[in-house]
Amino acid sequence: MKSVLRYAFTAAALVAGAASAQTYPSKPMTMVIPFAAGGPTDVVGRLIAQSMSKTLGQQVIVENTVGAGGTIAATRVARAAPDGYTMLLHHIGQSTAPSLYRKLPYDALTGFETMGLVTDVPMTVVAKGNFPAKNLGELVQYVKANKDKVNLANAGTGSASHLCGLLFQEAIGVTVATIPYKGTAPAMNDLLGGQVDIMCDQTTNTTSYIKSGKIKAYAVTTPKRLAVLPDLPTTREADLPALDVAVWHGLYAPKGTPREVVTKVNGALKVALKDPMVIERFAGLGTEPVAESRATPEVHKQFLASEVAKWKKVIEAAGVQPE
Ligand code: ASP
Repeated sequence: MKSVLRYAFTAAALVAGAASAQTYPSKPMTMVIPFAAGGPTDVVGRLIAQSMSKTLGQQVIVENTVGAGGTIAATRVARAAPDGYTMLLHHIGQSTAPSLYRKLPYDALTGFETMGLVTDVPMTVVAKGNFPAKNLGELVQYVKANKDKVNLANAGTGSASHLCGLLFQEAIGVTVATIPYKGTAPAMNDLLGGQVDIMCDQTTNTTSYIKSGKIKAYAVTTPKRLAVLPDLPTTREADLPALDVAVWHGLYAPKGTPREVVTKVNGALKVALKDPMVIERFAGLGTEPVAESRATPEVHKQFLASEVAKWKKVIEAAGVQPE
């Protein structure tokens, strides 16, 4: 009798699961962005969300949950119901945080369902418009000579700008004051206003200001120059290869989100990555969607694991103590 009952319950649960997967999504969904509105992660997330809303037939609402270098947002999503209605669009910070925080309230590797990689965004080394250095060589000399005066903006411990800033300071052998913000959109406001001196930030935030001459740009952190900023040398050309950083982005759901739901969201992500609107906007911001073969939950999972291991080594070798 007992086994008959268990069978009946299991069958009922399977039918309910299949029915909800068929009707999913039946209400608006939330995409949590770990940094301030208007910044690089936000820009990528909003473009993807706009396209995914069309495919899924439900609004994907963007919510900025900021602070602690993206870990507050990751905590929020790790603790959300695994029902497919809350997702996280995070970047490389998902792989650096485990080495930079002593205690994270979630496990970056096992606390989420990976739903696919999205894009790799180059970074640029930039400074306020009236910063004295004219090229990367001069910037390095100036920062070395004025290390007690110069300051470096970032988006908090574990953010891409923090990582790039760490690598920069490590490469030139000096430490300067850092000023953390809740994202590089507010940091950019202060760079434009001249309240902070230098920053490393994604092209998705810096390209228009570099083109209009509102800020100074010294290098791009990719092996090759970018079509959108052809005059900007690479850090390799300028002999700072340690700064090769591409800010990869991925989409996550809380651990335990049903497989069918992950597959459906991943399908909408793949459509978004082929959406001409997304491709065109990305191109103008100095980036492009990842190849379709990388936009899968499996590749994303393996890549995340390799990035966690990679940055652990780099961060330990740099002697950075987790906070
Ligand atoms: N660009 C930021 C970072 O440094 C985050 C952001 O504001 O999107 O990680």
